[in-house]
Amino acid sequence: MTTIAAPHQILESVFGYRDFRHNQEEIITHLLQGKDAVVLMPTGGGKSLCYQVPALCLPGVTIVVSPLIALMKDQVDALVLSGVKAAFLNSSQSSSEQSAIMQQMRRNELKLLYVAPERLVGGEIQFLRFLQEINVCLFAIDEAHCISQWGHDFRPEYRVLSQLKEVFPTIPIIALTATADSLTKNDIIQQLHVVDYRVFENSFNRPNIYYYIKPKKGYYDALVDYLEEHKDDSGIIYCLSRAATEKLAEDLRSDGFSAAAYHAGLEKNTRDERQDLFLKDDIRIMVATIAFGMGINKSNVRFVVHADLPKNIEGYYQETGRAGRDGLHSEAVLFFGAGDVMKLRGFAQVENNPEQTKILLKKLDQMVQLCETKSCRRKYLLNYFGEQAPDYCGGCDTCLNKPELQDSTIVAQKILSTVSRIKQSFGMRYVVDILKGSNSEKIREEHKKLSVFGIGKDKPKEEWMHYTRELLHYHYLKQSEGEYPVLQLTDKSNEVLFKNEKVFLSAPVQITITKEPVIYQQYAYEKELFEQLKKLRNQIAHEENVPAYLILSDSSLLDLSTYLPLAKNDLPQISGFGAFKIEKYGAPFLELVQDFCNANNLVSKIELKQPKKTKKASAPRERASDTKRISLELYNQDRSIADIAAERHLAVTTVETHLSYYITTGELDINDFVPYDKQELIEPAVTKYGRLSLKLLKDNLPEEISYGEIRMMVAHLSR
Ligand code: ADP
Ligand code: ZN
Repeated sequence: MTTIAAPHQILESVFGYRDFRHNQEEIITHLLQGKDAVVLMPTGGGKSLCYQVPALCLPGVTIVVSPLIALMKDQVDALVLSGVKAAFLNSSQSSSEQSAIMQQMRRNELKLLYVAPERLVGGEIQFLRFLQEINVCLFAIDEAHCISQWGHDFRPEYRVLSQLKEVFPTIPIIALTATADSLTKNDIIQQLHVVDYRVFENSFNRPNIYYYIKPKKGYYDALVDYLEEHKDDSGIIYCLSRAATEKLAEDLRSDGFSAAAYHAGLEKNTRDERQDLFLKDDIRIMVATIAFGMGINKSNVRFVVHADLPKNIEGYYQETGRAGRDGLHSEAVLFFGAGDVMKLRGFAQVENNPEQTKILLKKLDQMVQLCETKSCRRKYLLNYFGEQAPDYCGGCDTCLNKPELQDSTIVAQKILSTVSRIKQSFGMRYVVDILKGSNSEKIREEHKKLSVFGIGKDKPKEEWMHYTRELLHYHYLKQSEGEYPVLQLTDKSNEVLFKNEKVFLSAPVQITITKEPVIYQQYAYEKELFEQLKKLRNQIAHEENVPAYLILSDSSLLDLSTYLPLAKNDLPQISGFGAFKIEKYGAPFLELVQDFCNANNLVSKIELKQPKKTKKASAPRERASDTKRISLELYNQDRSIADIAAERHLAVTTVETHLSYYITTGELDINDFVPYDKQELIEPAVTKYGRLSLKLLKDNLPEEISYGEIRMMVAHLSR
């Protein structure tokens, strides 16, 4: 097909993003070849860009079919704020408004038009015929599962879409959904009569959502504590009944929280009003039944709490999925108690329908199993949806709690005797190298003759590292102070070495790292500036009467408060700042950053930001990480951080940031940077205060713990 712009160029200049996510790029290329696509992607995965980018690459107008009026308006508002000519047609508009939009289409002035499915064929005007007269280049069917009776949200109006291919045989169709099951998928393909199509499936994992399940007993106090810790965040609390939402919202309000109830029993006006206040961050906590959330596109929902047990995993996953659409750290917390199970078992009894009852009870049982499992919650969820997953995710309560201990006496004896034989004068990596029988030049000749040299060949290096850390944790070893900490024995280790005392340690877990952890890019930002930027954004949003997250997302603000751009031509580097937004909103945000930097003596870190310009998807990442690599290589040549910084004309913090990255990948070991006793202080602080603000952590830790040590430890914990 003829294109008028390249996808990457649109991604950067209009949407202000550097890289495509998941398989967005593949999908877009496929569509631009004139072919059909069926896209399964989890909520927050970035489905919209899959048709918005091609819409801007192609010469005509893209018709987006969407079932929810609220969502349509939100999407169109977002596009218009990025300078894209977009509009919607639905029953909420007067006929003169509608004909004005049709006029614009005739003049080829619109790039995207959102319509409700019934609008396509219904109405006085033959809309499909009208579309034949203008230049339509693409059809996008959002929430495509609505076409299927097998889906959880069947809408008969969607059936009219079956006619599309017949009337427009040469115009590509993209169908998008966040529903994963194969019955629905096949139904979408059949109903739409797509021809030259490909199905694009993505993992349903939501790596930025952390899952926690807590006991329900006395949950109100725990909930209040939780909300206190998330004072500035916006979230949803789901309850089973309308009455429960009213009561909880009221209790929370009397405890000083900004909360409102939402359920289908309220007047439509009240519901719309409350939803609007929530979108605009004027109500922080929505206490709702499951009636709330469909069509809520709010990207900065930071937590979803289930005060009552959901009926099934599908519901739980969909509701928790409303958190963290912007890709930032978000949490799903469920309070689980046996009372709820009894209650829901009662609800699952469908009169005169034992078959249906059986299905509902089975689904409830699976939900209970998720709550009761001792292994990884994420794995359970993904397996439920037919996906493979590693045993350990590091982002759920079961993974984050310590595993059970095992008899590890022999392993401990090997490590401790090595430490003893090399006279307690070497660091952790050296000890492990000896155990492994490494032929590295670093190992002294006399040590290669020791009986312990190579006695640990049977286990991978990572495992020996793990066991050594465990020995430190349980005080069978200690670490000396100073820049190069060495391992030393303790009274406890002598019991093991000479009195055959048994040692119990946790087994190592298999950690598979697939990509840069999300958290890495976000951990050192200026919290105060972030809050000021939020205020500015809210002010602009109020003036323009749109939700704040449409002006700029939280991740854009985080980028601003991390990289501190000081000039207008730094702004294209900031995620979410397309050309139009830079012109329209750049100045006030820049000014705020400049003032903040002046007042606090800060310099811009924009040069740390990888440049957006990319040609091929993988190559630039390599290039951008070169600078980190160089620091690593120097470090591996036993150079100190200060030394590397001096040689490379970089700030010490920059080099620390480089090296901390390799802690997250496992190439460097935390014990080489932070002595064990300090780790034990920093870790609980990170649990308590989160990892987003180093300053907050620094303020709450003893003086002698440096920023560098905190930074390294945060990287270590985000593994
Ligand atoms: P979905 O419709 O799949 O739930 P959205 O299309 O609403 O998800 O996208 C979720 C968020 O992710 C939006 O804020 C969107 O702007 C952002 N996003 C999408 N693609 C990218 C990308 N390639 N880079 C950065 N952010 C993206
Ligand atoms: Zn897990």
